Amino acid sequence: MITLRFDNSFVRELPGDPETGAHRRQVRAALYSRTHPTPVPAPRLVAYSPEVATFLGFSPEDLADPSFAQVFGGNALLEGMEPYAANYGGHQFGNWAGQLGDGRAITLGEILDARGERWELQLKGAGPTPYSRGADGRAVLRSSIREFLCSEAMHHLGVPTTRALSLVATGEPVMRDMFYDGHPRPEPGAVVCRVAPSFIRFGSFELPAARGDTALLSQLVDFTIRRDFPELLDGTDVTEQVRSEFFGQVCERTARMIAHWMRVGFVHGVMNTDNMSVLGLTIDYGPYGWIDDFDPDWTPNTTDADQRRYRFGNQPRIALWNLNRLANALVPVFDSLEPLRAGLERYLAAFDQANRAGIAGKLGLAEGRDEDVALMQALHALLQAAEVDMSIFFRELAEVDPRVPNLDPLRAAFYDPEKMKRAEPEFNDWLARYAARLRSDPASPGERRARMRAANPRYVLRNYLAQEAIDRAEQGDDAGILELREILRRPYEDQPGRERFAMRRPDWARNRAGCSMLSCSS
Ligand code: AMP
Ligand code: MG
Repeated sequence: MITLRFDNSFVRELPGDPETGAHRRQVRAALYSRTHPTPVPAPRLVAYSPEVATFLGFSPEDLADPSFAQVFGGNALLEGMEPYAANYGGHQFGNWAGQLGDGRAITLGEILDARGERWELQLKGAGPTPYSRGADGRAVLRSSIREFLCSEAMHHLGVPTTRALSLVATGEPVMRDMFYDGHPRPEPGAVVCRVAPSFIRFGSFELPAARGDTALLSQLVDFTIRRDFPELLDGTDVTEQVRSEFFGQVCERTARMIAHWMRVGFVHGVMNTDNMSVLGLTIDYGPYGWIDDFDPDWTPNTTDADQRRYRFGNQPRIALWNLNRLANALVPVFDSLEPLRAGLERYLAAFDQANRAGIAGKLGLAEGRDEDVALMQALHALLQAAEVDMSIFFRELAEVDPRVPNLDPLRAAFYDPEKMKRAEPEFNDWLARYAARLRSDPASPGERRARMRAANPRYVLRNYLAQEAIDRAEQGDDAGILELREILRRPYEDQPGRERFAMRRPDWARNRAGCSMLSCSS
């Protein structure tokens, strides 16, 4: 196996828990606990990401070597790995939840790749840590497949995200009560190795702040800036000015991430502050889902079915709420509140800008104007009322000449032919409005089409597609995972022969668990 170049700055520079072992505890004055992965009986490499493996420096021989599954299943450490579980808190569903921490994630170390870029390797499902609370520290195959496929799919869609190196089946059953109805059953277990420059979360700052540990908070802020935002440093000191810019950057990155989610129809499902990356990466894939029929009120997360706090259309607001929690946590390291207020304003401005860019792309316009936001809102209302598939509609809209009002080319996007017939006059009015707007856009029809095809994916990880791959894998057939991984590497290209993967959600999947409803049980 290759020798990776480790540079474990987090454990080197920050204070850790003096206690060892995975017994559950409150960990104060420390940002992590050294914890080893718990070995599994039969680690088997199910899938990997070729791109991630390549930039980390793994050769095909490394991937084929049985030791790869041993390491990334949690049974062995490579020279230079210093595993730990991070300590952080968070607001869950709007309430302060206190200490949470990596209950089933264990960071193996930080490596520097050939270009000198830093990547933290983290196993998810690697066994108990001091932060596992009442749970087992494991992950089931179904949720691991979902994390592996979705994080890679998001990357190829151009959405900021953590990546996934590998998916390893453990050969060990995990007990889960999938519906929380008192019927736990054994499910196959798995470990994903996820990869990001940093896994520091909003909640990483909230915990020391909530405990009044300003020294620790300040140390973490400085560390994060130096390691993850070095471009902000002008000289060696982390000044108030640099901290202000740091918070502003977090706000802007978060805004851009959310605008991408809205563009592609992704619903995170658990936007708790412990699941918000300070780098503005999509992180912690759990009961997420993809919009089939356009519905801003939809949430995939059954745990959130009543409140719908994390519904599709609420994500921009929730991100701002979360940034407010982060701002509150950072108050002690600022001399005045002004930079924090200014950062939150930057969220609004950056979201507006990124959202307009998203709208412009989706409609094939050179720029997104005020009137285009209204034009898109009007379309959203129609899509929702007529039960129209978001991905298919926008993709096919590129092929429509709006000067010739005719819904037929968009037929494949409608779930209900009756609703389509009833909505036809309104859609035709909207197409006329769109045609009028296009007349004031300098782009040629060819340019419009090219823009739209670059902003509106043909292939997304529809909930039922992931579930089909899971069903097959649970029967011992991994081919469905590999097929989706391949398709989702080129989401903006039409892939002849793979039309099935771009179709409307079939009827059988409308109300099936895993396809339209997911629980946090994973
Ligand atoms: P999540 O909603 O998946 O981000 O998880 C919230 C918190 O619960 C985090 O602190 C997780 O580490 C922890 N957690 C979730 N599932 C498990 C598990 N199976 N074992 C231990 N901790 C878990
Ligand atoms: Mg989490």
